[in-house]
Amino acid sequence: MANSHGPITGAQGVGKQVSECVFVGIGSNLGRSASNIKAVADELGRFATGKVGCSSLWRSEPVGLAKGAAPFVNAVVCFDCSMTPVQLLQGLQEMEVRYGRSPNPLREGYESRTMDLDILSFGQRILAGQPLTLPHPRAWQRLFVLLPLQELAPEFRFPGRDESLQQLISVAPGIQIELLSEQPGQPG
Ligand code: AMP
Repeated sequence: MANSHGPITGAQGVGKQVSECVFVGIGSNLGRSASNIKAVADELGRFATGKVGCSSLWRSEPVGLAKGAAPFVNAVVCFDCSMTPVQLLQGLQEMEVRYGRSPNPLREGYESRTMDLDILSFGQRILAGQPLTLPHPRAWQRLFVLLPLQELAPEFRFPGRDESLQQLISVAPGIQIELLSEQPGQPG
């Protein structure tokens, strides 16, 4: 999978699109979570220059939500992308709304949602600010991100961090999390 970045120079580079390897975290605890996540993983192909790889689906306890909230279904996908990070974010936000998420600018903290799409990392980019922080500021502490990510890319390291996924997993706050279904597919 390509993981290049920076300008392409020289005659050979003219007109060529540069793809960066993107990881996106998917979560849902309302509606038809599992089938919607599979549909979203397929649809993300629109933003990809190649195949989309998808982890297994995992079921995790809701963290930071009101008592009685439904468990989440989570997955991580990866693909090569030649869009800018902000273009991708806008595409993901449009999909969140299309899959039933109502924008709620007044909300604080976490809430139940039909579809949540987070850019976990975008190539080796490090950004802090609006509208995007890269890598995602909390992904490295969340088992529901780290375990599916480890399935897809065991050697992955978050840009700017030295720890392996196994090291992050061993110190992440414990939550109830279990495999829900087999891995739908790896990138070719
Ligand atoms: P969430 O409730 O997780 O969907 O948060 C969405 C908000 O987080 C949006 O306002 C995004 O602009 C912002 N945000 C910051 N960094 C990221 C990221 N890496 N991926 C997705 N959303 C992000």
